[in-house]
Amino acid sequence: MPLNSSAIVCPLCRLPLACEPKVWRCAGGHSFDVARDGYVNLLPVQQKNSLDPGDSAESLAARRDFLAAGHYRPLRDAVLRMLAPLQAQRLLDLGCGEGYYTSAFPGAATEVIGLDIAKPAIQLAAKRIKTCTWLVASGAQLPVADGSLDVITCLFTQLHVGEMHRALRNGGHVLVVTPAPTHLWSLRAGLFDEVRAHQPDKFLAGFEAQFEVVARDEVHADLQLTQTGLRQLLAMTPYVWKARPEKRLALEQSECFETGAAFSLLLFKKR
Ligand SMILES: [Zn+2]
Repeated sequence: MPLNSSAIVCPLCRLPLACEPKVWRCAGGHSFDVARDGYVNLLPVQQKNSLDPGDSAESLAARRDFLAAGHYRPLRDAVLRMLAPLQAQRLLDLGCGEGYYTSAFPGAATEVIGLDIAKPAIQLAAKRIKTCTWLVASGAQLPVADGSLDVITCLFTQLHVGEMHRALRNGGHVLVVTPAPTHLWSLRAGLFDEVRAHQPDKFLAGFEAQFEVVARDEVHADLQLTQTGLRQLLAMTPYVWKARPEKRLALEQSECFETGAAFSLLLFKKR
């Protein structure tokens, strides 16, 4: 069962949703069933931009198995270190996927909401993790009341800065994780003729008017991958699709592969 959350509003009319165990209703007459696995689909058809928005099932399974092997554990630990001093009451994990990071957040906040536009990802999360509220919903139009959140976490997901500003209380925080310049450098060197450094600061300008940067960190993790681990990483990494197929194929034949993951963490405070 998901936790009840007084922050959640109807995605159609924005009135508060009364969260009962089997169905959530607003005073405007809209209702949303709680799925058997314990999540709620708050994505109206008109907010769906494609039939099955979000990552593919193949990419989702690869990501789940890769993360379960603990390769990105140093990142999860670093995120928790940054969240701890905030002592959040209500935290929303935006673009939470199958919930690998979200599952650790109940230690850092009283109430945790995991939100993703991909229903298969939320289904996986809700089946396994019962300590969070799970929502299928759009990050562009969050189904939460104005000023109702203390913290929003965004790991490798699209940033809707104005919408996050609306949903956060005054002095609330956004934690953004993006690839650091050298992220998966040798993997990318195997896929592309030319490798460019990621630019984690490139979106800072979009935050400036409404947020100030209050903390930053960079996390590195050495990855020693088996062939299976490498294939999982390739399947979950979006830019692989831009690689030449013969390069990807050659890389996938490697018995083992070493590369380095590097992440940039930025903590913003609402002005
Ligand atoms: Zn409604």
